[in-house]
Amino acid sequence: MADSTVEIVVATGNPHKLEEVSRVLAGIGWRAVSLRGVMLADGSFASDADEPVEDAATFEGNAQLKARYYAALTGRVCLADDSGLEVDALGGEPGVYSARYAGVDGDRATRDSANNAKLIGAIAGVPAEARAARFVCAMCVAKPDGEIVAEARGTFDGAVITEPRGSNGFGYDPLLELPDGRTSAELSPEEKNAMSHRGQATRMIAEKLGALG
Ligand code: IMP
Repeated sequence: MADSTVEIVVATGNPHKLEEVSRVLAGIGWRAVSLRGVMLADGSFASDADEPVEDAATFEGNAQLKARYYAALTGRVCLADDSGLEVDALGGEPGVYSARYAGVDGDRATRDSANNAKLIGAIAGVPAEARAARFVCAMCVAKPDGEIVAEARGTFDGAVITEPRGSNGFGYDPLLELPDGRTSAELSPEEKNAMSHRGQATRMIAEKLGALG
């Protein structure tokens, strides 16, 4: 029997993002294919290609350029997200620079802990009641010819704390305290997806794609 599952390439090198997006898409019968699972005409894998320079001023701009770049590279419909943490007391920083806030190279864990240390230092003098922040996720689906098929934005509100808690998730998760008192890193993957910026954006995208047939 033919498999009617719809496949979509999720253009990210971040295994946490892939996992989060895949879970939501699986719930509506879509299969996420990673860049590692896409072979290019020369026999290399899309995951080995140079990454695009994320030089847009907005999350939406970066999501568009990533989705278009990987769709052109793979010849397939690609979904990309750009996300980050906006802290009101820091004028919206680290914002689109969230992944490279501390300017430290190295593996993901090294970069995350340097970014978190910088954020703790930046927020330390701000009173607890003035530490409102949110994760933002802009998501975009593009075709190989550059046409944008769907876009969505999700947000996840909380406040920055200076003592990290929780071991789930990635990035700034241990530093964003939610209204219920838990940090984003203290949520199970299912709970995070049900509430998070990326979960919301993925569900909106799935609805839009579903409507397109
Ligand atoms: P991007 O891969 O360019 O979109 O960068 C996203 C960066 O924003 C990550 O490296 C994290 O630092 C941060 N970020 C985005 N989403 C989340 C999240 O769900 N939890 C924690 N940090 C996040």
